[in-house]
Amino acid sequence: MPAKIFSIANQKGGVGKTTTAVNLSAALARRKIRTLLVDMDQQASATSALGIEKKQGASLYKVMCGEGSANDKVLPTGRDRLSIIPSEVDISAIEVELSGSENYLLRLKECLEPLKNSEEYDAIIIDAPPSLGLLSMNSLAASDYLLIALQCEYLAMEGLGQILGVVEQLQNAGVSDSLQLGGVVMTMYDSRTNLSKQVVNEVRAHLGDYVFKTMIPRTVRLAEAPSFGRTIFEHARFNEGSFAYDKLAKEIINRFALKK
Ligand code: ADP
Ligand code: MG
Repeated sequence: MPAKIFSIANQKGGVGKTTTAVNLSAALARRKIRTLLVDMDQQASATSALGIEKKQGASLYKVMCGEGSANDKVLPTGRDRLSIIPSEVDISAIEVELSGSENYLLRLKECLEPLKNSEEYDAIIIDAPPSLGLLSMNSLAASDYLLIALQCEYLAMEGLGQILGVVEQLQNAGVSDSLQLGGVVMTMYDSRTNLSKQVVNEVRAHLGDYVFKTMIPRTVRLAEAPSFGRTIFEHARFNEGSFAYDKLAKEIINRFALKK
């Protein structure tokens, strides 16, 4: 069965995309799902969150420009069933390099195609950058499912229409035949505040069951883990953040039938 490809996206920065991409990937791998994390953000924070040293030439930049293959960029992370394709600062040059060139929205999709069909992975998780630029568009076009990370804060839904609009555009333009909204992950949930509850209710009213049951709590453990190059499972195994990402993984395995 080909791997299912997910983009964790939202054009807003600081909403928990990378934290979710990293810890969801780790949680899936722990649940026996062979997972490849693809870091598409020039900040390369998913790369360093897994303790992988940033290295020039390590990303998909050249491959997206037609040189070499994505398989050569895959690195082990030292964790069972979890591999990564790192990012690097250079990857932002893609925006200039590719704009206007042929199939410029499909470059990542083409790069990942052999990995998708290699039978080596069950899930490929793309950590998308905080924009709706060319890298994000490529991430979406390469994906089967968009997973939106939405922070439980005032105006959380602002900009939601925009990213869903991009999905529709890609579908209508025939760029992506498979892309669908897969779900919405509510992040940085604070059960002590009414605001968090109100935001979740409002989002549920609009998006219903697209919203995952599992909400990711705000906890300092999730914020500090990346500075040690650790996932939440290595940093604070019995923290509520660990439990939440494990539960989310379970939901995702079921929703998208990731288990064979
Ligand atoms: P994005 O990738 O959308 O820019 P990040 O995942 O990098 O967002 O998160 C932004 C900041 O918020 C980071 O400092 C991160 O450590 C912190 N953060 C993310 N999720 C949580 C959480 N559930 N609880 C506490 N801090 C969080
Ligand atoms: Mg990020």
